[in-house]
Amino acid sequence: MKRKSVILVLLVLLLTGCGAKKQPNTLTITTESQIPTTPLPTTQTEDASTVILPIVPVPEPVVELDYEVVKPNEMGNILVVMYHGIYDNQPYHIPAEQFRRDLQYMYDNGYRLISMSDYLSGQIDIPAGTTPIVLTFDDGLPTTFSLEEREGQLVPVKDTAVYIIEEFSDKYPDFGRNAIFYVNTSNGMFTGAGTEQERLQWLVDRGYEVSTHTDTHINMDKAPKDLLLKEIGGSIIKLHDLLGEEYVMESFAYPFGSKPSGELEKYVLDGTYENSTYSFKIGLAVGASGPFVTPYHINFNKYKAPRARGSEGDIQDLWWFFKDYEKNPQKKYISDGMIDRLSVPAGKEENINKEALPEGIEIYIY
Ligand SMILES: [Zn+2]
Repeated sequence: MKRKSVILVLLVLLLTGCGAKKQPNTLTITTESQIPTTPLPTTQTEDASTVILPIVPVPEPVVELDYEVVKPNEMGNILVVMYHGIYDNQPYHIPAEQFRRDLQYMYDNGYRLISMSDYLSGQIDIPAGTTPIVLTFDDGLPTTFSLEEREGQLVPVKDTAVYIIEEFSDKYPDFGRNAIFYVNTSNGMFTGAGTEQERLQWLVDRGYEVSTHTDTHINMDKAPKDLLLKEIGGSIIKLHDLLGEEYVMESFAYPFGSKPSGELEKYVLDGTYENSTYSFKIGLAVGASGPFVTPYHINFNKYKAPRARGSEGDIQDLWWFFKDYEKNPQKKYISDGMIDRLSVPAGKEENINKEALPEGIEIYIY
């Protein structure tokens, strides 16, 4: 009888919790194990003080998100950061200490690293209240990544970008371990120990992503169609030779940030070269040429998606956005912690491009 009534109370709590959308305050259901029960002596031993407690099942506590406190905004901006080398030549390159400071700021202020692939798919798996951020590195520079042999193993050289991300993610595992590297396939991809294939494979095996920045870093603004196809398609063929045919590349970064105009624009994201077809979901500019809307926002421009320069310097560089989001937190993406739900503050739902959302995602307006 006692157990029955406990279950009834739980059911009532659950039902009222689910129905009350307007005040969805945190609802922690008391588990059965937490409810005081009178010990039932099941076995009387010679020692009268020894009592064996009944075994009761311990269900997981049910916790509903507190929307008023977390204020998730999954139509908010996601920063895509553009780095190059790790040495002191700002604003495109920054010294190791500054890169460490960037990561520390991100972590301390609730940013979590996500992959370009998750950014593009909209399936973002980070805890409630945190903000996703994407790191990109152009040009395949040795200070971004190079390997050396230590005790028979290939490991990143100290104070390269990858070394610093690894070091940071080891210290703070919940920060994530993601970045994407846009390489020029004929300009030498990183340096140091190992072959080009081993270097790229090391990155991919570790969960990083690789894609193309053209074969020779051409200025696409001035390139004819044949050259565009060769530079992009040819570099994809080379990357597939190194990483395997099945390796998927969904994004592209414009060298010098200059993109072809008019008729030729479309060949950047979709084209065929030597019987090999490529198709990207996004072309990344140099610098912040627009708001950092998500790929499922109606204002998303797949041909010219902005990136913030990873620098403290100028207006619309990374630290300018950091400070702007401190003052205006409502601008940035704040996760609800649920991968299959898009939580959107009322009024922002008209910005959703539903066709760009993956199937099975529930839109939740509050
Ligand atoms: Zn470049």
